[in-house]
Order: sequence, then C-alpha cells, then structure tokens
Amino acid sequence: MTTLRKPLLAAFALAAALLAPPAQAALRILACEPEWGALAQELGGNVVDVAVATTALQDPHQIQARPSLIARARNADLVVCTGAELEIGWLPVLLQQSGNAKVQPGQPGNFAAADAVRKLEVPTSLDRAQGDVHAAGNPHIQTDARVIGQVAAALAARLAQVDPAHAADYAQREAAFSTRWRDATARWSAQAAPLKGLPVVSQHKGFPYLYDWLGLKEVAVLEPKPGVEPTVAHLQGVLSTLKATPARMVIYAAYQDPKPSQWLAQNAGIPAVKLPFTVGGDDAAKDLFGLFDDTVARLLAAAAGR
Ligand SMILES: [Zn+2]
Repeated sequence: MTTLRKPLLAAFALAAALLAPPAQAALRILACEPEWGALAQELGGNVVDVAVATTALQDPHQIQARPSLIARARNADLVVCTGAELEIGWLPVLLQQSGNAKVQPGQPGNFAAADAVRKLEVPTSLDRAQGDVHAAGNPHIQTDARVIGQVAAALAARLAQVDPAHAADYAQREAAFSTRWRDATARWSAQAAPLKGLPVVSQHKGFPYLYDWLGLKEVAVLEPKPGVEPTVAHLQGVLSTLKATPARMVIYAAYQDPKPSQWLAQNAGIPAVKLPFTVGGDDAAKDLFGLFDDTVARLLAAAAGR
C-alpha cells in the first residue's frame, strides 16, 4: 500500500462508520426494588442496562421521587416494579413527572410483578384510611422463591415484547435461569423442612409469601396495621398473646428499625431474626440465589437456637 492511498482508505472507513446504523443500544430498565433489578439483569444480561430506584435498606413503601430518579424514569424503556400498590406513595408521581409515555401504567413499558402472581391477604374491605399500606393485597411477593420463578417467566415475555430484536437472548437466558432456579428452589424447600409449622411473630406483614412457601405460622404482628408503627400497648398485647400461643422467633426486614423486634425478643425470650428481604439486604444476599440461601440459613439457625 502506498502512502497516497492511506488517506483515501481512512475517508472510506469514516464514511462507512457514519452510514452504518448505530450499535443497538441496551434496553434501559428502571427497577423499583433490588429483587426486580437483579431478575432483570439475570434475564437481560448484556443487552440491558439496569438501574434500581431503591436499596435493600430503604422502606419500599416510602421513597422520595427525587430528581435523579425522575431523570432515570424519563429515559427508561421499561420500568419493573412490584405493583399491588407497594409503590403507590411514590411511583405514580415519578412516572407522571418523567413525562415518558412508554412507561405509563397500561403500556408495555410498565411491568408490575404482582400481576403475574396470586396475591395473599387481599382485604375484603378497604381500610386504607386507617393507615393500611397493603390495601391491594400483600405486595411482598419476593420472599417466596416459587413466585420469583413465576415473575421470571412473565418478565422474560415482556422483555421480548418491548425489545423484539433480542427476543432470542431473553428466551435463552430465561430457560437457563429457570432451570437453575427450579433446582435451587427445590434445595431451599428441602433445607427448610424443619421450619414447617413453626410459630413466628413478624414486625411488619412482610413475609406471608415466605410463610406460605415454607409452612411457617404467623401468630402475631408487631405493627397494629401494616405501615403503622408498633405502640407500647400493642407490643404488650403481643407479649401476652405469646403466653398462650408461644412463638419461636420474631422476624424483621433489613430495612426496618430493629427496636420493636428486639423489645419482643428480650421480653419473650425468643430470637429476633433479621432477614435480608431483598438483594443487598446483607453481605450474603448478593444476588437472588444468595438472598434465598441466606434467608433459609438465618431461619434455620434461629430455629436451632444457634
Ligand atoms: Zn408492606
């Protein structure tokens, strides 16, 4: 090649680069909670770009729709949230302020995990006025590994719908994930066999799906109503309930103030067990598999008095 031809080739290369379509941009996903961010990442791999609105140490019922979140919602191709009114205090504002038509409720770019799941504790009468934050049924579906599997199938289908160019990637990753997840779920279920029928107290009604899966029995709740802080009178009431109906442990989530659980633990002589509740809730809950490994391990340790 002569030196004369080099600039010409460079010019051709530049023209080709300018004429070529831009590289396919990753699908931008905004997940409301860490478990759905982790699931979207499992299913999307390197063809998605996932941001998560909350951390495991924040109360997902109560988030501020801060400017950085609004900016992220503005650019999102898909929002992946729990639904069932978990985010009713902040997500509607966030979506409205985003001005992003793609991710509004009812659009393919708006995915609510709870829509794929049979909900527990659906109230027969609406008592939101009294502070109940679970007016559409219990939204804490991520504590049952079987439910994660159901949501994975629904989310993979939605990813393929909003990003058909990568439909094969999503289907392939979902197949691989669901095989691993089914095996892991069977393992956790077997490990947790000693927990079946164990009476427990919850600080917040955060675990009915976990209890439904593993057979734990909730005998009392420290919050008088979901989202209403425990009062001294209510805690005393729970303590007397336990005299007739003893519990083996009191369970709270990583994002919660541990004091009410610690008070009961001290006064009833039972362990207070902090569960990660979602990905990132503690060091062991690094991903969805770690979340359930750690949840089952913590429950078994408390049941065994370790
Ligand atoms: Zn709740």
